[in-house]
Amino acid sequence: MSLAYQQRKRWKNHTGNQSVEPLRIYRPASLQDLREIVQVAERDGVTVRAVGSGHSWSDVALTTGYLVRTDRLGEPLEVDGLRRDYDGPALVRVEAGMRIRELNRLLADRGLALSQMGGYDAQTVAGVLATSTHGSGITLGPICDFVRSLDVVAGGGRLVRIERADGPTDPAAFGGRELRQDDDAFDAAVVGMGCMGVVYAATLAVEDAYWLTEVRELSSWEQARDQIASALAVNRHYEIYLNLYPRQSGEHRCIVCRRNRTKDARRRRATDRLRRHWWIELASSSKILPFFGNLILDALPDSAPRRTDQLLGWLADNEYTGPSFKVLNIGAANLLPAYSSEIAVPLEGNAHIRAIDALIDVAARHRDLGRVYHTGMVALRFVKASPALMSMMHGRDTMMIELIHATESEGGYELLGAYEDALYALGGRPHWGQVNTLTGSHDTLRRMYPAFDRWLAVRDELDPGGTFDSPFSKRVGISRR
Ligand SMILES: Cc1cc2nc3c(=O)[nH]c(=O)nc-3n(C[C@H](O)[C@H](O)[C@H](O)COP(=O)(O)OP(=O)(O)OC[C@H]3O[C@@H](n4cnc5c(N)ncnc54)[C@H](O)[C@@H]3O)c2cc1C
Repeated sequence: MSLAYQQRKRWKNHTGNQSVEPLRIYRPASLQDLREIVQVAERDGVTVRAVGSGHSWSDVALTTGYLVRTDRLGEPLEVDGLRRDYDGPALVRVEAGMRIRELNRLLADRGLALSQMGGYDAQTVAGVLATSTHGSGITLGPICDFVRSLDVVAGGGRLVRIERADGPTDPAAFGGRELRQDDDAFDAAVVGMGCMGVVYAATLAVEDAYWLTEVRELSSWEQARDQIASALAVNRHYEIYLNLYPRQSGEHRCIVCRRNRTKDARRRRATDRLRRHWWIELASSSKILPFFGNLILDALPDSAPRRTDQLLGWLADNEYTGPSFKVLNIGAANLLPAYSSEIAVPLEGNAHIRAIDALIDVAARHRDLGRVYHTGMVALRFVKASPALMSMMHGRDTMMIELIHATESEGGYELLGAYEDALYALGGRPHWGQVNTLTGSHDTLRRMYPAFDRWLAVRDELDPGGTFDSPFSKRVGISRR
């Protein structure tokens, strides 16, 4: 084994709020490299964890053992072993370290597109699957729901292709390689939080390229909340950005954002992004203005509610039309110095409405007792129930509540923890990739996730020796060792 690695090198996530000094950092360039790394780690008695592009704010990607960077595993692959009678949607197969950005370009070149994506595109394919990353639109599940097949390097360096029972691969055409076609195995492995092995490749169902029109309309939560059900029924993508603090009128300002397919594909070429709030895009991508914004919030925390109202006013927009992957990407707002928690609450029983009431109370209480402010907006996104066993949307249509904070907010993490507790009481489940304080105590995961034991059974089979354990898996009580 002669694979190069770095020792005593610090690895940091994209925001810089998570870092670790693993024993080794590898940058494999092939499937064979991956298999060797797992085998060497097991020989050395060390754990392994793959990382994508480090866009998780939680500790989910950290490892103290051998860290595997996947930035050299981003090539398109052939869809191999396809059943002759396959007549489903178009499929694309890529190495799992490819970023969504490059995947979108690859698809656009072929006249294709993802049916759904999150609000950003710098994450990797394996990264978005591992944490059940999602967009918004109640007829569309998280991105993992569009995967049809996974090639995983499991414990022992064993390579196994995992699909549902009716998966697209023909066992006879798969040349004696290990193929596991089983619903539970697939639904467990697809949202694996790095604990199921290293994903080498994924095959996704995609569709013909399409365009979207986005409209962002200023409103108030008090108006918008009564229209959620009807709006979800008629809009492909629908989300709300909200200020938790009331205006003088007592109403909470929000933006209602709708995105729908358009036939009116007006080609806007290079200037299309600039036409969406061009000066906000410019201000957000510069380092200086957000830096001063953070300073102001630090010195004058009481100004946070007003600033959020201002920001919402700036974000309102009559129309933005473009290729789907450009419109679904919320733009330079992703570059602002911020971190967030995101909690999944069920739509059933109006838990989502009660959740916002609870958050408004928590925000007011922390302001009154400790002059601690929520320094960003709250994004509400709607996601179809997912079959993936440990997806936050497993088994229930969901409203995702993203609680965004400026990085320098004092008391920000404590406030996020208080929101989290309030939302757990309403059936909340935290996003694996966002800040959370979940622990393995009180049998919490088993109570949150009805299929938890089925997920564990698959994990035990793919990783019998605990090779893919990590500080995160220990914290939430899912370590194998
Ligand atoms: C600016 C920004 C915008 C975001 N927008 C959204 C959004 O719109 N919707 C949403 O739901 N989330 C969003 N997130 C969260 C983000 O999508 C997730 O945290 C995602 O998992 C990050 O992907 P990554 O490639 O950076 O993976 P990392 O953060 O590096 O890793 C995440 C997990 O994936 C595992 N992993 C990575 N590669 C592999 C592999 N090859 N094999 C096995 N496991 C692997 C890691 O071990 C880890 O458990 C956003 C985050 C940021 C910073």
